[in-house]
Amino acid sequence: MRRKLLLGNWKMNKTVTEAKEFALNAKELGKLARQNKVDMGVCVPYICLAPVKKILKTSLIVGAENCHELDHGAYTGEISIPMLKDIGISWCIIGHSERRTYYGETSEACNKKLIALLNNGLIPVYCCGESLETYEKGETKAFVEEQIRTGFKDISEEDASKVVIAYEPIWSIGTGKNASKEIAEDICSFIRSIIKDLYGSKVSNRIRILYGGSVKPNNIKEYLTQKDIDGALVGGASLDVNSYKELLTNLL
Ligand code: PEP
Repeated sequence: MRRKLLLGNWKMNKTVTEAKEFALNAKELGKLARQNKVDMGVCVPYICLAPVKKILKTSLIVGAENCHELDHGAYTGEISIPMLKDIGISWCIIGHSERRTYYGETSEACNKKLIALLNNGLIPVYCCGESLETYEKGETKAFVEEQIRTGFKDISEEDASKVVIAYEPIWSIGTGKNASKEIAEDICSFIRSIIKDLYGSKVSNRIRILYGGSVKPNNIKEYLTQKDIDGALVGGASLDVNSYKELLTNLL
C-alpha cells in the first residue's frame, strides 16, 4: 500500500519571517496527517530551510527545491547536498519545469542530481511533464518517457523505489487550467508502466507518483482517488496555511 503524499513547493516566495509564521501555524497539521496515514510537507527556498526545519522538526517534511550534484567546489550561488544534510533536510525537488525552462536543466543534469541525492540518503522528487505545444501535438507520452528513462539512468532497483515522481504538465502549472483527472491518471499510469519496464513490478508497485498543476482544495480529491496518483505537488495552494490545511482535510 503506497502512502499518500502531499508536498508544497513555495518556489521564490516568502521571506524568512513569513516562512516562520507559516511553520508555527502548520505545526499541528503533522499530527492530523500522520493520524490519517498521509505524508505531508513543504519544499521551501534555501534561506528558509533551517528556520522552518527548526520549528517543524519531524512534524512535517521540509525539503529543498533544488541542489547541486557535487559536494563542494567553485560553483558560486549553488547549494550542495552535504549542506542540506547538515541542517537535517532529507528531501529535494529535482527538475521542476521552471528550472528546466529558465535555467536549461536537462534530464541528463537531473539524473546526476538524482544519483547524488540517493547516494547521500536523500529522497528526490523528480519532476517531469510536457509543454502545451507538446501536449497539443499529442506527443506527451514520448516526451515524458524520455524524461523518465534519462532521469533514472544508472539508478539501481533498490534506489529507484525511493524516488518520488511528480507529473506536472507545464500548461497546468500556476495557470488554473488543471489537467482532467483522466489525463492525469493516464500519464501517471503510463509512467508507472515505464518504471515496470525498467525495474519490474515490485518497484513499479512501490514507487510514488504525484500529480501537480493547479491542485487546489476543491479538486484534490478527484486526483487522489485515481489508481496511479499517490499524491500532489502543490504550488500556489501551499502558500497559505489555511488552504494548505484544506488540501489535507479535503482528501480525507
Ligand atoms: C508547482 O509549482 O509545482 C505547481 C504545481 O504549481 P501550482 O500548484 O501553483 O500550479
